[in-house]
Amino acid sequence: MDKPGIVVTGVAGRMGQMLVRVIAESDQARLVGALVREGHDWVGLDVGVAMGGGDLGVTVSDDPVATIAQAQAVIDFSTPDATVAFAELTAQARAVHVIGTTGLSDDDLRHITAAARHAPIIRAGNMSLGVNLLVGLTRRVAAALGADWDIEVVEAHHRNKVDSPSGTALMLGEAAAEGRGEALSDLRIPAREGMTGPRTEGSIGFSAIRGGDVVGEHDVIFAGQGERVVLRHLATDRAIFARGALTAALWGQDKGPGEYDMADVLGL
Ligand code: NAP
Repeated sequence: MDKPGIVVTGVAGRMGQMLVRVIAESDQARLVGALVREGHDWVGLDVGVAMGGGDLGVTVSDDPVATIAQAQAVIDFSTPDATVAFAELTAQARAVHVIGTTGLSDDDLRHITAAARHAPIIRAGNMSLGVNLLVGLTRRVAAALGADWDIEVVEAHHRNKVDSPSGTALMLGEAAAEGRGEALSDLRIPAREGMTGPRTEGSIGFSAIRGGDVVGEHDVIFAGQGERVVLRHLATDRAIFARGALTAALWGQDKGPGEYDMADVLGL
């Protein structure tokens, strides 16, 4: 079978550039398109050259309709508005849409569910193997410990991250709530400030640190009386997310329409 042709969105971004590198090095996929926002400086340049390296034979475009039409898969780490628009175009092309974008609203998710009626969509707030394992462990630990163990999710990211809590922190919070047989929306505590009063039993708290170039760190803390269990994942290289996304794009090639996540891809 021919190597699947992959389009990367937001190629000027941190993850976009990493994806271009990982796909260029892969012998299982070909880069066939590189998208940027309309009018971006990189339009018309070779994507490898624009990134400061050698020629990769793919010209950067700001025309998503024509570019996505050539794709077997679109890997998309951009912004929620852009991702919703790409989901529709990718579904029209009957291509696999791998979505790493975080901060999607309920309305955005409804559009993505509609697009997934026509083609496979694989979406995860974190595409790394380690974090997806951590999600499974969090669910098990939460199920094993009673509601008298307080659960806090603490995350740290680089100074340019625009959403909070991180998509990964929410995945972990959801896993903890599931472990307790409840919905996160019923247990989640918004950011704390001022006279918050004591903690409500069974609630799940989130804290975010933003600074420097931190790739991504997540702790799930189970705090009991006289002891604590801490589950931790530290990401030190963005390539883990790009490799996970490429694995998802390849995995999706023979899948029917529907919504999938990294647990499906990794068989966890
Ligand atoms: P970033 O450096 O800001 O990159 C986002 C890129 O998307 C920018 O280059 C932006 O271009 C571009 N973009 C926005 N709208 C576009 C449009 N309509 N058409 C084409 N390109 C468009 O951010 P990042 O650090 O790469 O992260 C991107 C997203 O991935 C965030 O939501 C982040 O949380 C998420 N993320 C997920 C994972 C995971 O494993 N799931 C891992 C890391 C990051 P402009 O600069 O011109 O606006």
